[in-house]
Amino acid sequence: MSQRTRAEHHEPAHPDPWVSAWALLLRKHGLLGLVDASGADVVRHPSKGAGAPFLDGPLDPRDMHTVGIQTQDAETEQVDVRLVDGPWNRLCHPRFTVRPIPRRGEVPTQLDPVVLEPSDPVWPSGPIRVQLLDLPERFTTLATTTVAGQFGPVIATDGRTVVSGLPLRALLAEAHAIAPTATSYLNHIAVPKTYELEQLVVNAIESAVLAAGGSSLRTDVWPSGHRAALTIRHDYDRVCPEPVLRGLLDTYANAGLASTWCFRLDNLEPAHAQMIAASGHEVSLHTTAGDEDAFLTEVQELERRTGVRPLGVTAHGGAGSAGYLGQHQLLWAVRAGMRYAELLGRTPLLPFQALSAADGAVTPLPLVLPNVHSSIDLTTKPDGHRLGDLQKQVPADLAQGGHAVVMNHPDIHRDELRTLLAGLPLDHVWLATLADVAEWSWASRLGGTSSHHNGRWTHRFGSPLPHPAVLRVAGAGAGEVRVPAGETETVI
Ligand SMILES: [Zn+2]
Repeated sequence: MSQRTRAEHHEPAHPDPWVSAWALLLRKHGLLGLVDASGADVVRHPSKGAGAPFLDGPLDPRDMHTVGIQTQDAETEQVDVRLVDGPWNRLCHPRFTVRPIPRRGEVPTQLDPVVLEPSDPVWPSGPIRVQLLDLPERFTTLATTTVAGQFGPVIATDGRTVVSGLPLRALLAEAHAIAPTATSYLNHIAVPKTYELEQLVVNAIESAVLAAGGSSLRTDVWPSGHRAALTIRHDYDRVCPEPVLRGLLDTYANAGLASTWCFRLDNLEPAHAQMIAASGHEVSLHTTAGDEDAFLTEVQELERRTGVRPLGVTAHGGAGSAGYLGQHQLLWAVRAGMRYAELLGRTPLLPFQALSAADGAVTPLPLVLPNVHSSIDLTTKPDGHRLGDLQKQVPADLAQGGHAVVMNHPDIHRDELRTLLAGLPLDHVWLATLADVAEWSWASRLGGTSSHHNGRWTHRFGSPLPHPAVLRVAGAGAGEVRVPAGETETVI
């Protein structure tokens, strides 16, 4: 057998289109670029075999031979991964049920939920191949799992190579996407939980690259001085008396908090929307549309009647609405020139770049998806609220550096909302609108591109920076630069 050079050892064009979205996952966590000691981009063009910083599953016999591991293979629908010294995470193909929403005034028929089966085969549904790792002594286990009655390591590192017995890049990308549905989303029945696993793997790969003389470029997830972000989102589903509205805006003025208000077209109070916008809050769209024409009409009408062009959209789930339609709505939002939409039923914790998948390809969209909202309202009854749950969950999301999004209908449970806010640890938490969070996330990390030449990084931001950003190089060429607001590019 001839001696292969490093260059010939690059990964072949991967048959799994989801792998192409891997770089987006790294940017979600603020890792903008990663090159090996020769300056080669190890994210876009991962090497294989000896010296590769990351060997992703399914591992082929040559990889296994090179690093000296053996595997025990099995298949399963859902992989519960235990991070060493950490929590459980879950990998699976996301699956959800759909059910039509009744028209307004119609007696609801109790249709059973139906599991969505996407017609496009780009949405995987089969079992996941798991390879339990039989490791040489130099390896440290990062995560374990149990599959087919066998327990063992499934992700490990020897400091130079991170080895995964799961197709991690594809599964993590898929965890951030949602199939299109013509009938309203109802509930997830298989939901990935991956935040801590993403952090663990991203950090381990970066460490492996740096240990081998490479270089990484990172930025902070939140604007300087902030450790997490909180958005208060109001879905304006019933007309809210003006004194109530003013009371909330006063509370927010005292707290220094900018909130997001999502308006429907069928009960729009233009004077209320204008008052909210004039107080420095965001007016956004709460869609009921069932097709793209209706959606674009809502955007135009909202702008015509309030003077505000919505930068994002959330979906109304009540009677008379088409509901949340997954990828369809993401594409409509892009075509309406919006900056953000939503992904329901997952807990990504940090804003990330939307993906669309069709015809065998996975394509990044110029759209930010914030973390999923947590509703304080369960029903409209006085005791129909989730204050107790949110008093635990929101501080936990903030402690992890995440984006907590609390949703409330402004005509109900305002006392509970105020109680929640008063009790939250909000030191160094960015109190921002969904549009603020989307704009910052896109500009500072999600929408940008990095390149590495002659030992220096050049980073082009996704859009002019709305706040100063700090960029850090670790490993070769280590350094730090503070980039002022308004900049579009920096060299470090
Ligand atoms: Zn609603």
